[in-house]
Amino acid sequence: MTEKTILTLADRAAVLVAKLAASSIRKLGLGLGSNLPGRLALKVSPNVLGHLSGQTTRGVIAITGTNGKSTTSGILSSILRTAGFTFAHNRQGANLVTGITASLIESADWNANIAADLCLFEIDEAALPLVAQQVIIGSVVVTNLFRDQLDRFGELDTTARLINKGIGINQSLAILNADDPNVCQLAPEVSHLFFGLESVAAGVAAEGNMELAYCGKCGKEISYNRVFYGQMGHWYCQGCDFKRPDPAIYATDVEVSATASRFKLFIDGKAEECTLPLPGLFNVYNALAAAAAAFHLGATREAIRAGLKAYSTLFGRSERLTIEGKSVIVQLIKNPAGATQALASCIRDPKARLLIAINDNLADGRDISWLWDADFEQLTALTDTSITVSGQRAEDMAVRLKYAGINADHIFTVPKLAQAVTQALSTLGADETLWLMPTYTNLLDLQKILKSMGVSMSGT
Ligand SMILES: [Zn+2]
Repeated sequence: MTEKTILTLADRAAVLVAKLAASSIRKLGLGLGSNLPGRLALKVSPNVLGHLSGQTTRGVIAITGTNGKSTTSGILSSILRTAGFTFAHNRQGANLVTGITASLIESADWNANIAADLCLFEIDEAALPLVAQQVIIGSVVVTNLFRDQLDRFGELDTTARLINKGIGINQSLAILNADDPNVCQLAPEVSHLFFGLESVAAGVAAEGNMELAYCGKCGKEISYNRVFYGQMGHWYCQGCDFKRPDPAIYATDVEVSATASRFKLFIDGKAEECTLPLPGLFNVYNALAAAAAAFHLGATREAIRAGLKAYSTLFGRSERLTIEGKSVIVQLIKNPAGATQALASCIRDPKARLLIAINDNLADGRDISWLWDADFEQLTALTDTSITVSGQRAEDMAVRLKYAGINADHIFTVPKLAQAVTQALSTLGADETLWLMPTYTNLLDLQKILKSMGVSMSGT
């Protein structure tokens, strides 16, 4: 339990100003307005974020890492709701200081009071120290750290240093992925709670496409007894004593289908049979991260099991839709590791058809060279399946697929997304599923296109 913070007059004024700004932005239809109210509030009272979050009785938990922040936060929300906790959560994914401030103010009443047990903040890796300077963060969950952000010489790069700094400021408990050697190098001086995978059913772990990792102590390449995907696995260093720690919260017997995962979840030495309505090993890791956090916050094993099962998908993350009676799955892709895992789920579906939409706007990332690092080669398993490519970089995507070994006759290039969606749906068989994989701005377009067809995605 943390001591309640006393609000100042400036905090109350800041909340008032931000709420008025947010409501004006909404009335004028200027978009979500997720940052401006926060910026104004911080001008009026620079400590408002710390003071508001300090009102919660169980404090603040932060979730950061390269991939899976939003899904992990979403799964944790589901568990916390099931467990009967009240909490404030920046659920629109505004994960910088101003966005977090704005979303917390939305949870406050006009008098700046927050009636919640805790704050759940999804925080961008680079913003973690900035938030930690203002807010007492009790625990920090790190989902994973992929190589595009780490150098190859064993020395932690900027992202890892920022996370270390963010954890160090409040000496937060570090809730870490034991299977990711990049994550295990973080914050050696604080207390840890580790989560990981012990065993998976035959054929579940991704073959090939392994990512190299380097020892943070001696710089040697990390070795593996077992690889699950990317640099995740049962690892050790041949050059020194650095090795995978035994996780306190872990899963065994993981089975994944095209739309769900099942596993035994061990917490405190006791097992729960769990079902997660999400496919992919990466989502089992997200579930483990959320389960570890929930356990630390005081949720029971039963609430964790029920919360996992009750999880409903976030906007664009393995979201299942029925459009004109046809089955569609939408999976946002944005970097090699995430795309590789999304494709691995897709090829498990023998009735899969695929539409990949790639844009290179600022929000997607201007550099699309990541397409060459994602494992599109695995799509050769889907023989005779047509693949539609769309978006501003449809041509580049088509070239990538040809190099991956996909028969050029099976690749259809339709740059306009609305047209691509209509065509793909009209040729989709009744028993088939269209797997739609858009980058971020394509996902926003898709939301509008589907709305015009009378279909709402979540978060809309
Ligand atoms: Zn070593």
